[in-house]
Amino acid sequence: MKPENLNTHALMFVTPRPELVFERGEGSWIFDSTGKRYLDFIQGWAVNALGHSPLEIRQALAQQAQKLINPSPAFYNEPAVALAQLLTQHSCFDRVFFANSGAEANEGAIKLARKWGRQHKGGAFEIITFEQGFHGRTLATMSASGKPGWDTLFAPQVSGFPKARLNDIDSVRALIDDRTVAVMLEPVQGEAGVIPADPVFLQELRRLTRERELLLIADEVQTGVGRTGKLFAYQHAPIEPDIMTLGKGIGGGVPLSALLAKEAVCCFEAGDQGGTYNGNPLMTSVGLAVLNRILAPGFLAEVTAMGAYLSQRLQDLAHRHGFPGERGVGLLRALILPDDRGPAIVKTGLALAPTGLLLNSPRPNLLRFMPALNVSREEIDRMVDLLDGIINRPG
Ligand SMILES: *Cc1c(COP(=O)(O)O)cnc(C)c1O
Repeated sequence: MKPENLNTHALMFVTPRPELVFERGEGSWIFDSTGKRYLDFIQGWAVNALGHSPLEIRQALAQQAQKLINPSPAFYNEPAVALAQLLTQHSCFDRVFFANSGAEANEGAIKLARKWGRQHKGGAFEIITFEQGFHGRTLATMSASGKPGWDTLFAPQVSGFPKARLNDIDSVRALIDDRTVAVMLEPVQGEAGVIPADPVFLQELRRLTRERELLLIADEVQTGVGRTGKLFAYQHAPIEPDIMTLGKGIGGGVPLSALLAKEAVCCFEAGDQGGTYNGNPLMTSVGLAVLNRILAPGFLAEVTAMGAYLSQRLQDLAHRHGFPGERGVGLLRALILPDDRGPAIVKTGLALAPTGLLLNSPRPNLLRFMPALNVSREEIDRMVDLLDGIINRPG
């Protein structure tokens, strides 16, 4: 329960929140102010790549805070340079622009594509995105998203984002005209309910965009930095996008995101892009710590192994209960429910005592799992046991 004396009224309402306050976290566990613990398979919405408050991040923050927090983005700093180098060494991209949120990185990607269109494609500016896709909550990224109703919410919005259907190459082809500059997609649609883009579709999309001289933008805010078992999800297909955005996991819980691009696309001129906090050493030092851990020998193989294990345990659970099944890539997975009981399961999981369970239901007929990338087999077993118990409850 929320402490009696805690008046939350001063916080602006944007979402209903449960009557509890989280105070402390450790790995896959989070504790509320009464000391009750919860097994966390949300992890800040796929943000805490290494779990709650891992040693690497605490050390990086403490050490960097003592040295330099923000010299301004108009100057170089060591962690930003080192992190950009590490990202380019381990990806197909040549340059990195750091930002503070996934939406902001995507705004940068949209601006970069439009500028490139102005320079190379006679002012083409349209970016084909996908039905049910999610790219953020700024005005432009809401328009780019394919959430029903988001094109009219807060109108007038940013135009120029026609919607194709995922895994339907003809629906993309049909939208291409002289105004088209790029195609932008999530390699696995996260908020839509963990819907992977088919590798064959991604290859066709890469071929089509090359033929028509269009940019391919991968929004890897949710799928990047190890979540799918490879460092970046585009490597599964494999394809090489022209632009990629990262967020969530790259900061391991702190606000850090990135826009990466191939050299030929890097067309920003002085003044085109920036931001007060962009690439500050406090956050980029955390990004370095996270990325170094994920690149350590064996780490990604373990993500793949745990992803396969979670998948198997979910399949078994689905079989036991006669549910339709599960899907996903690596440690981004969804259990498909036979009806709209997702929100009720989430609520029951939260209230379970003495050990609660944090799950997410982005669509009422499914549950999404996005544990820490270093989640253990025992923690997966525990989660499945708790979930089994919830499903077996009468009523
Ligand atoms: C979460 C998410 C975003 C938005 O990131 P914010 O940091 O919340 O702005 C954008 N794209 C995808 C695919 C996401 O999952």
